[in-house]
Amino acid sequence: MRLISLLNQYQRFPGFVYAKARLCASSQTIEITVRPRCGSRPVCSGCHKPAPTYDHLNLRRFEFVPLWGCMVVFLYCMRRVDCRGCGVRVEAVPWGVGKHQLTKAYMLFLAHWARKLSWQETAESFRSTWDKVCQSVEYVVQWGLEHRQLGPIGAIGVDEIQYAKGHKYLTLVYQIEQQCTRLLWIGRERTVESLEQFFILIGEGLAGQIEFVCSDMWQPYLKVIRERCSQAIHILDRFHIVAKMNTALDQVRAAEARRLARDGYEPVLRKTRWCVLKRKANLTEHQRFRLRDLLRYNLQTVRAYLLKEDFQQFWDYESPSWAGKFLDEWCCQVMRSRIEPMKKIARTLRSHRALILNYFRAKKQLSSGVVEGLNNKAKLTMRKSYGFRTFHVTEIALYHALGKLPQPDVAHRFF
Ligand SMILES: [Zn+2]
Repeated sequence: MRLISLLNQYQRFPGFVYAKARLCASSQTIEITVRPRCGSRPVCSGCHKPAPTYDHLNLRRFEFVPLWGCMVVFLYCMRRVDCRGCGVRVEAVPWGVGKHQLTKAYMLFLAHWARKLSWQETAESFRSTWDKVCQSVEYVVQWGLEHRQLGPIGAIGVDEIQYAKGHKYLTLVYQIEQQCTRLLWIGRERTVESLEQFFILIGEGLAGQIEFVCSDMWQPYLKVIRERCSQAIHILDRFHIVAKMNTALDQVRAAEARRLARDGYEPVLRKTRWCVLKRKANLTEHQRFRLRDLLRYNLQTVRAYLLKEDFQQFWDYESPSWAGKFLDEWCCQVMRSRIEPMKKIARTLRSHRALILNYFRAKKQLSSGVVEGLNNKAKLTMRKSYGFRTFHVTEIALYHALGKLPQPDVAHRFF
């Protein structure tokens, strides 16, 4: 009976007592019988007011946090109440939530570990199942979404992320202030309608207070932001521009490598992909030599690479007007280069000139790289989880990892 006194110290529920504990050796389960305290009245699950008992239901099992490698279950006969307001209802018990088989404490426990380990690992570590881990995360996320405070929001970043196989996208909206970076919202697809949903959620009041919006050049996003956040300074994110440029450079390199191979030249471009895509400072010794070697050739790839490297300077400017001047000159130069993927980039940059230059207007207030960091974290979350096939599960996993949601309170935390 030591266990019961232990439980009484750490996990007491007003109105209930632990009657007996039993170790079932074959299944390695500790069964703890719970009874209502003498004279206590059940609480209606509809209105959370005490009400007279109507009848008793069958014994129900609630899984509690495992101890010493044993599964722990609470056994309890649920009462039904005859509530004046709600009619006949099942009572509410402080350790459980609705129809869940797991206790609140156990769900919080699993959800806590599911943030550190993959869901499968969490299930294996605590001899539970993937579905139960999923249920737990779902409960914690739902509670958090209902209890979180949305505003005030000063700066948001809009980003898209590919999920599942094929061209399926999610739209993610982050709050990107220095004091608070978190995932605010997830939507299906990356259309005008998806982003509209976010602004419906936060309402016009909060949307009107947003000062900075950071996004990529995806047209539907630009359109919605223009309409819903006209007062905000809209910035095209540096990370997305660099990513676009790298894609263009990679196209040039791949096409040229194929051409060289076809025409029977030396394969000078083989294994140079990362030499030209990586930032110079991040190259390995070997890659640095490869790059130096490569730069001797008069290749389209080399010229495209030099143009890309040249563009790096752009981010160092302080004044928008000088940066603008640089941008115009760079674009002119690229347009004369006869390298089609790079010309395409130059045309895009030209058509978004004003939004790109906003980067210099907001530079002091917004730390760059926040969106990139969050984007990487989101990708990592998706990669850690082989089981996230559906939108709903992906959604709760991302909120769980990045939402910084508040958590329900329990008497004692087991982690
Ligand atoms: Zn009621």
